[in-house]
Amino acid sequence: MTEHIHHDLTLSTGFKTPIHIERYFIVDEHTDCSLYPDHIAKHNPHIIGDATNYLFVSEALRSAITYSGNSVSIVSETETHAIVRSEAGKNWHDFVMEMLNANLFGIENLALIPGTIGAAPVQNIGAYGKEVADNIISVHCLSIATGEKYVFSKEDCQFSYRNSKFKRHQFSNILITHVDFILSKIQYPIANYPDVERYFTEKGIVNPSSHDIAEAIIAIRRNKLPDPLTIGNAGSFFKNPVVSIDVYQALLQEYPLLPSYHVDDHTVKIPAGWLIDKSGLKGYRYKGAGVHDKQALVLVNSHNASGKDIYELSLLIQQQILERFGIMLETEVNILL
Ligand SMILES: Cc1cc2nc3c(=O)[nH]c(=O)nc-3n(C[C@H](O)[C@H](O)[C@H](O)COP(=O)(O)OP(=O)(O)OC[C@H]3O[C@@H](n4cnc5c(N)ncnc54)[C@H](O)[C@@H]3O)c2cc1C
Repeated sequence: MTEHIHHDLTLSTGFKTPIHIERYFIVDEHTDCSLYPDHIAKHNPHIIGDATNYLFVSEALRSAITYSGNSVSIVSETETHAIVRSEAGKNWHDFVMEMLNANLFGIENLALIPGTIGAAPVQNIGAYGKEVADNIISVHCLSIATGEKYVFSKEDCQFSYRNSKFKRHQFSNILITHVDFILSKIQYPIANYPDVERYFTEKGIVNPSSHDIAEAIIAIRRNKLPDPLTIGNAGSFFKNPVVSIDVYQALLQEYPLLPSYHVDDHTVKIPAGWLIDKSGLKGYRYKGAGVHDKQALVLVNSHNASGKDIYELSLLIQQQILERFGIMLETEVNILL
């Protein structure tokens, strides 16, 4: 285990707002956590990966812990599938590309999502018609309070839209150390997402391969989303709200062009970016923070913003959307006050 005292994490975070950690623990599989739980637990550290999905409002954090191991191995394989285990510290996008190059398919739609393997199950990362839960077999964890190890099956993880049981308060001490994925040796490319379909039509590609899908999604994301290395951001700031059919029908009377996605017979999902855009907030600036001018769901550090600037902007957006549409937007980003 490595322990850093007074660690500056600012440049590693998504938003690039100032954040200083008093005590930063870095563990890997060689760490015998049963030797440390009292020591680590005493500081009650926040678990972080690459901190791409955090908004640090206060500029100081007492303590944080991260898992740094990043090895990948094949656990078992058949003619059609392989079970692959990755350590939590591995970069997610690197993993996607390495699997694709090894002709193991199924997660290519999730290319270029920032962050680590360990964070992927926490909010069940998803994009372009796929969620990581579709390919997870089990999640290996360690309690930083007791040093005990656990293995949770996919069902135990209770995955849903941008959610899992790891987001619950009682799991805040559970450090994910490894994730097992099931990947296919046969390609089943998923290209029926509007942006992806448009990309292939423009390129004249009729039967895209999984490699084509990854290439398309990387190009689409680079064009649409700001790169946190050049303009600080944490991806989608808010979740897309899921509302009842009655609420949706009432809104549709007033906004006939309101887009929606079918969830089930009782609820529909409305794009939060559309609500923000419709409120005239796309491109809006507040102190050093802003709403991205191409994608209203993304808040950005446009000019040396503090975490507080971005937080205040998010409250202002929530307030305006509530007043105009009667919908309270939930945040997707982890906010530490
Ligand atoms: C430009 C951009 C685009 C994005 N696009 C998408 C997208 O398309 N789809 C999507 O779903 N997300 C997207 N995100 C969000 C982000 O990529 C994911 O949330 C990612 O999983 C965060 O990884 P991280 O390592 O940075 O986690 P962090 O930000 O460090 O942590 C996120 C959460 O995971 C927990 N956590 C992290 N590591 C562990 C661990 N080892 N054990 C237990 N808990 C852990 C933390 O406690 C925290 O609750 C985007 C972000 C950015 C900046």
